[in-house]
This record gives sequence, C-alpha cells and structure tokens, in this order.
Amino acid sequence: MRPSDTDTIVAVATAPGEGAIGIVRLSGKDAIRIASLCFTSGRALDTISDRILTYGQFIVQGQGLDEVLASVMRGPRSFTGEDSVEFNCHGGPLLLRRAVEALVRCGARLAERGEFTRRAFLNGRMDLTRAEAIADMISAPSDLGLHSAYFQLRGGLFQRFTTMAENLRHALMLLEAGLDFSEDVVIDWPAVQGPLDSARDEIGRLLASYHCGKVFRDGASVVLVGRPNVGKSSLMNRLLEEDRSIVTEVPGTTRDTIEEAVDLDGLRVMLVDTAGLRESTDPVEQEGTRRSGLWIERANVVLFVADGSLPPLPEDLTLVDGLDGRLVLPLLNKADLGTHPEWNTALGDLSPLFISARTGQGVDELRLRLRGLILGKMPTGGEVVTRERHADALASASTAVDRAIHALDARLPGEVIALEVREVLEALTGIIGETTSDDVLDRIFKTFCIGK
Ligand code: GDP
Repeated sequence: MRPSDTDTIVAVATAPGEGAIGIVRLSGKDAIRIASLCFTSGRALDTISDRILTYGQFIVQGQGLDEVLASVMRGPRSFTGEDSVEFNCHGGPLLLRRAVEALVRCGARLAERGEFTRRAFLNGRMDLTRAEAIADMISAPSDLGLHSAYFQLRGGLFQRFTTMAENLRHALMLLEAGLDFSEDVVIDWPAVQGPLDSARDEIGRLLASYHCGKVFRDGASVVLVGRPNVGKSSLMNRLLEEDRSIVTEVPGTTRDTIEEAVDLDGLRVMLVDTAGLRESTDPVEQEGTRRSGLWIERANVVLFVADGSLPPLPEDLTLVDGLDGRLVLPLLNKADLGTHPEWNTALGDLSPLFISARTGQGVDELRLRLRGLILGKMPTGGEVVTRERHADALASASTAVDRAIHALDARLPGEVIALEVREVLEALTGIIGETTSDDVLDRIFKTFCIGK
C-alpha cells in the first residue's frame, strides 16, 4: 500500500464527451463528508441509506451547478470497499469538470487511472484477475472477448488458481512436516504426488487455452496477399459488406495497407489488404513492402488470393513460396468465370477455396474456415487465459511443476521438491495478486481509464 492509497479520490466515471448522464465518483474515508459540502437536498447525505438515489442540487461555492441524483455506498460493502458517493449529473464535459474541481477544493484528490479498481483489489473486494476482467469487459472487441471477460469477472479463473494453490499448499505442508520431524514422520508420497500431477494437467490446459484467449481478448489479424487485380479489395469489401453494421473505422490507416475490422461470428478480425508486395527499387514501395511483411509475420492467417479463372503466373507461385511457415488459406477468386485447370496441381499440398468476391460464392465457407483456422483447437472447460501476464506466470509455474515432479520421481530430498513447489505457488498466487509488488500493480492499473 502506498500512502496515497488512503486519500479520498474523485473522477468522472463516464466516458468523455457529451452524454445524457455523467457520473462523478468519490471514494475514501472522507467521501461522504466532502460530497456533503457540494450537495443540498431535503435529506443530508450522511443520513441516507446505501444505494438509494436522492434528488438534490450540486452546489459550487454557494451557487447551484446542476440538478443531480446522489447515492451513497458505505464501506466495506461498496465497490472499492471504502465509503463512496456517486453523483448522477447531466453529462456535459464542462459541467462535470466544474463538479470535480469543486470536490477537489473540498478535499478530494483527482484519481489516477484505475485507482477505484485498485482500491477494490487492495481492500480485498476482488482478486487481481477480477480487477483485470473489469478492464477487459470494457475494452472487449467481440462477443467472445466479452464472454471470457465476464467468466473471469465472476471469479472463474480465481477459483481455478485458488483450488490449485490450496492443494499444493497441502502437499507442501506434508513435505515440510517430513523435513521438520524427519526422524518420526514418513512422508505420504502419493498425497504429495496427487496435487502436483493435477496442477501439471490444469496448468497445461490453461496454458493451451491462451492461443484462443489472446484472440478473444485482442482479436485476430488476417492479411490478404496476391498480385494486383486478383480481387483482394473486392473480397475485403464483400466481407465488410456482410458486416456493415459492425465495421469500425481504424485510425492511423497507412497508405500502403488498408485495415478494417470485421466480426466473424463473435470473433473480431482485422483484415489487412497489403497493397505492395512487389520487388521494387522505389524507396516508398520498399517501405510498403517492409510493412506488409511485418503484417504477414504477425498475422494469424494469410489469405493468398489469386485469379483462378486465369492460369497461375510465376509471380503467384513466388508469392505463395514466400509464405512458407505461415498459416495460409489459398483463395481462387473469380470462380464465376470458371477455374483454370492448371490450378489443380499448382498449389501442391495447399487446398484452395473457390470463391467469387463478385457473386459471394464460397464466402460463407471462407468465413467458417477462417474462424476455424484462427481458433484452432478450442479449449475444453469454460476458462480461458486471455492475458499475457497470466500466460507468462503459468509458463513459469509449468516448468517449476515439471521440475518438482521430476525431483519426486527421482526421490530427491524433500527440500528440493519443496523448493520447486514453492516456486509453483509463487507463480500462481502472483496471478491472483496474493503476492504482487506495487510495481506490477502500477503496470496493470495504468492501462485502465481514469474513473474506472
Ligand atoms: P485487387 O487489385 O487485388 O484489390 O483487385 P480488385 O478487387 O480491385 O479487383 C480487380 C478487378 O477484378 C475488378 O474489376 C473487380 O471488379 C474484378 N473482380 C474482383 N473479384 C471478382 C470476381 O469474383 N469475379 C469477377 N468476375 N470479377 C472480379
């Protein structure tokens, strides 16, 4: 805990910009007293019950600023675990700024990013995975992202980690009893082995879910590659057109690639049309090619598009060869004009999909195949690991648990096994925040918004 963790903090909790309602939120030991200095109503704030909306006036230096609804949530049964007050104001940016300034003049401090949630965590209202889930709920790019964040918010991951940690602590206790009283105590080896084996399976399963979880949380990227005029932009438009309602504009679009987001049945996919992938001496085109190369490297799937109605050209095949090592789905476009027989053998092991961006033929199948390729094998069980921090900690836990099992199999001394088990525990408890430094907390919460 830092000294500033006991200040009373204030922030606008709603999104910036004009809106019907804007919420100003206060939390800390003086929240009710400070809020009372800016509020008049038939009833004093400190007499109203928890979670009841009370109508009144927000007052700034004796002058009315707005008609508001105020609510009080007393700690420890509040979101932050502290006394909290919320004002539902009208959602004007200037109005909200003035309200916050007034509360600061009365003794509150402006909240840092994520500070309300940080307090909820510090005051034991939630573990770190649930605190992170709040950020993920808000930034979820797709339904799948939203579902996994909600699962995590409801304590799905927390439960897994605490159960594993409890079992491992029991195993550690048996080992330590053996160490302390080695003369009289015979270690119950199967009782040590059991939790280690199940931790290894569970950790492995959770780690394996990260490839899906990452895509749920961050979305996937799919790059279209092919010679000019084969129909890449027509295909992109076709995929976007089917999704018009959910297309989001992507800021910072570069001249050499066109990037647009589509929703593939609950999965958010960034489609990238690489314009230039030609050999060129022109520095601008070379830069374009370099950037396209970066996209291809990072892409979950590369769509190689060719004009299937014409015979394959050497450039087509050079392009495909250049994609070696990537997950490639070849598309033979312009199927409405027929398919040239030379394509039957041109692509070797890669089996192409016949589509027409013009008529829409094969596009449903493309969406299905694409989704399958991106997600790969779906994880079993409900929980999915979506954050790199969790995956990194699980990777450390996984190597430590393997070492522990190896030490056990080799009948190495109990101290050695206990050392490894403690390391597994440290990695797992770090995920839920039982043993997490202020630095790590700073890093996590600084990605939150102010007011969250
Ligand atoms: P890009 O340079 O690869 O992005 O190709 P475009 O999307 O600009 O398409 C090149 C030309 O092919 C345009 O005249 C399109 O109308 C046409 N085209 C694209 N897809 C199809 C298709 O499926 N069938 C037919 N017949 N023409 C297509």
